[in-house]
Amino acid sequence: MFVSDRERERKAAILKVGSEVIWAAREFLQNEGFVELLPVIVAPLTDPLRHNTDRAVIEAYGGHWHLTRSMIFHKQAAVSVCAKIFSFSPNIRVEPPDWKETGRHLWEFVQLDLEVRNGSREELMDLGERFLVHVLSRVKEQCWAELEALGRELPVPKRPFPAFTYHEARRRFGEVFEVKLSQEVETPVWIIDFPIDVREFYDREDPKRPGILLDMDLLYPEGYGEALSGGEREYLPERIRKRIELQGLDLAQFQGLLALAEKGLPPSAGFGIGIERLVRYVCGLPHVAETRLFPRVPGELSLI
Ligand code: ASP
Ligand code: MG
Repeated sequence: MFVSDRERERKAAILKVGSEVIWAAREFLQNEGFVELLPVIVAPLTDPLRHNTDRAVIEAYGGHWHLTRSMIFHKQAAVSVCAKIFSFSPNIRVEPPDWKETGRHLWEFVQLDLEVRNGSREELMDLGERFLVHVLSRVKEQCWAELEALGRELPVPKRPFPAFTYHEARRRFGEVFEVKLSQEVETPVWIIDFPIDVREFYDREDPKRPGILLDMDLLYPEGYGEALSGGEREYLPERIRKRIELQGLDLAQFQGLLALAEKGLPPSAGFGIGIERLVRYVCGLPHVAETRLFPRVPGELSLI
């Protein structure tokens, strides 16, 4: 698979770091009282996403089943049983072939998706910061030899991380602020308060500021771009219905979610953090594909 010993050793170092990232993430969340759920791979409905991603659907038992694009709706349902949950969730997002060039996209990736019943955005931002500091510190400690071999000097950021509103970020860094801002900062930064028309319908609209969402993204420094997305959720059936309609989506597609909401979904907040992007950042790699042994790169075929 690898032509030289050097390539093999480099890959082994990256995979060791990746494994340590997963251990550290589990350890942190277990200590915070989270319950790990096994992932949902196929379901009658999944995350609609905001950008054009081809649908991946299989037919079985007379029904159509989506391959999971994110476990968002299952997370919302799950917190009615356990107050804090997480899952290492494989996601399939058939992205356009030229997204291969971003360095940040795989069409099969694993998202650490978590959700907290009655959580607020601020609590989840605090959790996200402590999560990242824990994982980076642990990996530095356990994998110093691998990081040295990869030539990576990994900084552990100080909390709290700075935050920009979406509008501030756009005003100061332009339309493609995700890349520019991420290149300029030396510590992870939050983007908060996305306008309603740029995000998915499940991010909760601030009741006090119509049109503004109670959500957030975290960007890595050094140009590595988006780390996580999350927010508070719409959970009342009339609100969910209104938001689906506002985006021009088909209500029938989300009947399962609406039925659950009619029975009563708890208020919640959560986020999803891409594992391969985290490992890419930790190792300081040009492309996220390097973090996987069998990467699924947009537009590329594979022998195995
Ligand atoms: N799972 C969502 C996503 O994939 C993130 C979230 O929890 O809001 O974007
Ligand atoms: Mg996102």
